[in-house]
Amino acid sequence: MNKQDLKHNDIYETIIVGGGPAGLTAGIYLSRSRINVLLLEKGLPGGQAILTEVIENYPGFPEGILGPDLMQRFEKQARGFGLEITNDTVLEIDQGDKEEEKHFQVKTNTNIFQSKSIIIASGAQASQLGVPGEDKFRGRGVSYCATCDGAFFRGKEIIVVGGGDAAIEESLFLTKFASKVHVVHRRGELRAAKILQERAFANPKINFIWHSIVREIKGNDQVEAVQLKNVTNEQEIIFPCQGVFIFTGYSPTHPSLGSLKDKIINEKGYILTDECMMTAVEGMFACGDVRAKVLRQVVTACGEGASAAFFAEKYLEYLSSKESE
Ligand SMILES: Cc1cc2nc3c(=O)[nH]c(=O)nc-3n(C[C@H](O)[C@H](O)[C@H](O)COP(=O)(O)OP(=O)(O)OC[C@H]3O[C@@H](n4cnc5c(N)ncnc54)[C@H](O)[C@@H]3O)c2cc1C
Repeated sequence: MNKQDLKHNDIYETIIVGGGPAGLTAGIYLSRSRINVLLLEKGLPGGQAILTEVIENYPGFPEGILGPDLMQRFEKQARGFGLEITNDTVLEIDQGDKEEEKHFQVKTNTNIFQSKSIIIASGAQASQLGVPGEDKFRGRGVSYCATCDGAFFRGKEIIVVGGGDAAIEESLFLTKFASKVHVVHRRGELRAAKILQERAFANPKINFIWHSIVREIKGNDQVEAVQLKNVTNEQEIIFPCQGVFIFTGYSPTHPSLGSLKDKIINEKGYILTDECMMTAVEGMFACGDVRAKVLRQVVTACGEGASAAFFAEKYLEYLSSKESE
C-alpha cells in the first residue's frame, strides 16, 4: 500500500472489520467506552446469523428468535452507543514497518483508513453444494450447522453430505435427534479419523450411501427428498428425507493480510490468537468464526467480541502511556 494513496486523514483508535455478532459486540463495548471506533461491513450488518430463521440457543430468548431480528437488536444497540458503521469492503490490512508508521492501514473499495488497533471479525462460510434447491430450502431443511439446527429434526430422517471429520462428527451428534442419518459420500471410503469411522459404523442409526452425490434438493415448503446420483453406475434415485446437512468444507473469510499474513494465520487460513484475542501482531485482534477454534456460534462470537474490545482498549491505554513517557 502506498502512503500517497491515503485519502482519509483520521486515525481511528480501533477499526473493526466485519459486522456480524463478533464485530457488533466489539463495537458495542468500544463505543460504550467512548473509543473512537469505526466498523466496516461489506454487506448488511448481522453476518451469518441473518441467514437463519430461528435461533433457539442464544440465551435470553426462551421461545427462540429470528436470526435477522436478533441481529437488528445488536445493530440498534451498537448504533445507540454511537458506533460508526460504514458499508465498505475491506480489501487489505497492513501495517507500516517503521516505528513511527506502525498504524494499521485498512484499504477498502473506496478509501484507506488508519487505526492504532484493529479487530478482525470477518467470519467464515460453509462450502455450498451449488445444486438446485439448496438456496430455496436453506433454513427450511437445508443446514450447515448441526449444533444450531439438529434439534429441529427430532424423529426425522435426514441426510448428511460429506465424508471428512466434520461430516462424521456431526452425523454422530445428529443421531441424538434424527430417527435415521444417511451419510451421502462421493467416494467408497471416508476421509474422517479412524476413531470417528469406527463409532459411525457401529451406530445403528447411521447408514452410508457410497459413491453418490446430491443432484437436487426437492420439496414444496420444506425439504421432502433429494435426487442422488451414483457416480459409478450413473443411476439416479429420488431419496425421501426431511433434512439435508452439508459438511463439505468451511473456510474463513478475511481480507488480504499483506506482510502480516505469515505471522497470524494457521494452515487452514484461520487467525491464531491468545486468550485475550490478540494475534502475534501487537494491536491486532481477531474474534468470532474467523479465529482458529472449535465452537462457532453466535454466543461464542459475542464473548470473543467482548474480550477483543476489552483487550484492545487495554492496548490503547498502554500505547498512550508509552506516548506520554
Ligand atoms: C444457516 C446458519 C444457521 C446458524 N444458526 C445458528 C444458531 O442457531 N445458533 C448459533 O449460535 N449460531 C448459528 N450459526 C452460526 C453463527 O451465525 C456464527 O457462528 C456467527 O454468525 C459468527 O459470527 P462472526 O461475527 O464471527 O462472523 P459472521 O457472522 O460470519 O460475520 C462476519 C461479517 O464480516 C463481514 N465481512 C467479511 N469479510 C469482510 C470484508 N472483507 N470487509 C467487510 N466486511 C466483511 C461479513 O459480511 C459478515 O457480516 C448459524 C450459521 C449459519 C450459516
